[in-house]
Amino acid sequence: MFSSSRRFVAVALSGVCAGAILSACGSDSGTTAPEPGEKLTVITAFYPLQYATQRIAGDTATVTNLTKPGAEPHDLELTPRDVGHVEQSDLVVYLKGFQPAVDDVVAQEADDHNLEVSPFANLTLTVPPGAEDDEHEHAPGDDHGHGEEGARDPHFWLDPQRLSKVGDGIAARLSELAPDRAATFRDNAAKFRRDLADLDNDFRTGLATCRNRDVVTSHEAFGYLSRRYGFHQVGITGLSPEQEPSPAQLREATTFVRDHDVRTIYYETLVSPAVANTVARETGATATVLDPIEGLTDQSAGTSYPAVMRANLATLRKGQACT
Ligand SMILES: [Zn+2]
Repeated sequence: MFSSSRRFVAVALSGVCAGAILSACGSDSGTTAPEPGEKLTVITAFYPLQYATQRIAGDTATVTNLTKPGAEPHDLELTPRDVGHVEQSDLVVYLKGFQPAVDDVVAQEADDHNLEVSPFANLTLTVPPGAEDDEHEHAPGDDHGHGEEGARDPHFWLDPQRLSKVGDGIAARLSELAPDRAATFRDNAAKFRRDLADLDNDFRTGLATCRNRDVVTSHEAFGYLSRRYGFHQVGITGLSPEQEPSPAQLREATTFVRDHDVRTIYYETLVSPAVANTVARETGATATVLDPIEGLTDQSAGTSYPAVMRANLATLRKGQACT
């Protein structure tokens, strides 16, 4: 679909450019350093990558996000306009395997100007989780095969240490694109790293002593967060927030909540709370928002990644009975 429209555009342009100056009509993008003072054009796939890129680039780049505010990023669809922006950008920052539409458009339009962040994010978790890090053998979400067997968990940004590493990766790549601004990127990355270290420290201290270590959630976005701070994530459905749980999954979740004296079921901002509410109603637990920060909306508990993360910390401290 994209390739045929792209071919049409290319043909049309080559006609226009036939007698024009070559440099003004060249189709290369992201291969030449920007002029001094000229902003880089960077496209990001979803909010946490946008936030990290803006922090690193500062005012040296125009950063545009493909996932619009309030949209759910997992099943993003792109417009022809988005495709054009991707093609013309200096760099596309994305996470392979998270948004199929973005994977496709990067392969077709940004093969030579993209940054795939998973090597920096170090995606070590798969879903269903490996047996070695799971002592709750009968927890719902562990063994009924939602999603691909062994699919990588993409939600690295809920672990500040992983997001920090991604910031370093973005800084390195931007420095290649605009070597004259490398010092700026290096300084911004250092500041980003310090802020995330502070955030990490707040989580570590705030969640050190909690009565309940089982985090029961309708969307399994908190695997890396749970791993980092010593929780055990129990998903009611699976990696994708729009997956409907089966009656058997719901029964398992309800039993787990009762058996483990779980008081709080978490759901997220961008999808319906129906599943969490069902389990909560049947068990007497409370359903509350824990934000996977896949996008910000008017309903978000803050206007930036660290603000929403700190709101999540407060929610977890209450929900997990931390002292
Ligand atoms: Zn997700």
